[in-house]
Amino acid sequence: MRTGLSHLFIPGPTNVPEVVRQAMNVPMQDMRAPDFGDLTLGLFEGMKSVLRCETGTVMFFPGSGSSAWEAAITNTLNPGDKVLMARYGQFSSLWVEMAQRLGLNVEVIDAAWGAGAPVNEFSARLANDCKDEIKAVFVTHNETATGVASDVAAVRRVLDENFHDALLFVDGVSSVGSLDFQMEAWGVDLVVTGSQKGLMLPAGLGILGVSEKALEASKTATMRRAYFEFADMLKMNADGYFPYTPPTQLLHGLRKSLDRIGAEGLDTVIARHHRLAEGVRRGVSAWGLSLVAERPSLYSDTVSAIRVPDDIDARQVLRIAYEDYNASFGSGLGPLAGKVFRIGHLGDLNEGMCLTALSIAEMALFRAGVPLQLGSGVGAAQAWFADAANARSVFHVAAE
Ligand SMILES: *Cc1c(COP(=O)(O)O)cnc(C)c1O
Repeated sequence: MRTGLSHLFIPGPTNVPEVVRQAMNVPMQDMRAPDFGDLTLGLFEGMKSVLRCETGTVMFFPGSGSSAWEAAITNTLNPGDKVLMARYGQFSSLWVEMAQRLGLNVEVIDAAWGAGAPVNEFSARLANDCKDEIKAVFVTHNETATGVASDVAAVRRVLDENFHDALLFVDGVSSVGSLDFQMEAWGVDLVVTGSQKGLMLPAGLGILGVSEKALEASKTATMRRAYFEFADMLKMNADGYFPYTPPTQLLHGLRKSLDRIGAEGLDTVIARHHRLAEGVRRGVSAWGLSLVAERPSLYSDTVSAIRVPDDIDARQVLRIAYEDYNASFGSGLGPLAGKVFRIGHLGDLNEGMCLTALSIAEMALFRAGVPLQLGSGVGAAQAWFADAANARSVFHVAAE
């Protein structure tokens, strides 16, 4: 018998705000009705502001984030095209696997799990590509398995420095709507996200931002696609319709989520994620544990992957948290299984929730045998949150 709240501290699906859940509790409606566009047309625009893109196009495919990966690839590339990708975690590895399965010729760079996108190595490969054989470069902005955020702007810079015309693909599933992401300024051609992370919704929408250059490419790209055909989607989207039944509940939820992000302000959302993540990191450091991310400039503000001591099984920590304290943390994926647990800190989240996460993680670690001082992680985070709050109120007083 479980009592009280269950705690979801995984990096997606994230907590759905109560008002968003209620916004989705509406009767089924006619997706061919003359006024259906009143709901949908504003969503394309709202999503474009979250992506910080002015000239591009947004599409919503019914599916999880991975469906948007497939849509992006099959609409803009040709069978056998050479593409440049790097593996530095579970999600970047899965993206490589998908590209290979779909028939691309993938030039893979393997980097350490804990490293970011290998910008210098990308630069070297692009510089050597005299015949412009590389048609696309892929970057996983936030590697959710390792808690590493990569420098997408730097990848754009090396493309430009090498006068290279390849398309820039970005997996923004666990960054868009939570971390600084700038589609237009960074010259991103295809960005992929899903509804269940920063957008605080259930899974079910694969979301794509597509640049004008990528749209041009889609007109001649010859990879096979049917369900995910951009042209079919765009033709119907022009008036707010879809080529097949859209998940209308999710669209209502998205309206509410975008309104919430707009009301808080995207910059404030990003700053909140940084503040909360820093609190979690202070807690981890007070336990004497370290992150998988190799250095502070790579630290992700949406998820922290935490190494447990060698003689402890991280799965035991997860089991204690789940069974005894109704709390879910992310597991270690792939080679990190048993060595790592992850705290997701994105979406609809505040200081109190992060302190709860830290206090439960602390108990579970302690009971699994990690020699830490109970209260140390929570105390370190509290001190940081208190400082951050004081700094903000000084700022507010100064601004008045
Ligand atoms: C969650 C996640 C995905 C996969 O998304 P699904 O919605 O599960 O298909 C892909 N990439 C990253 C970086 C993710 O965090």
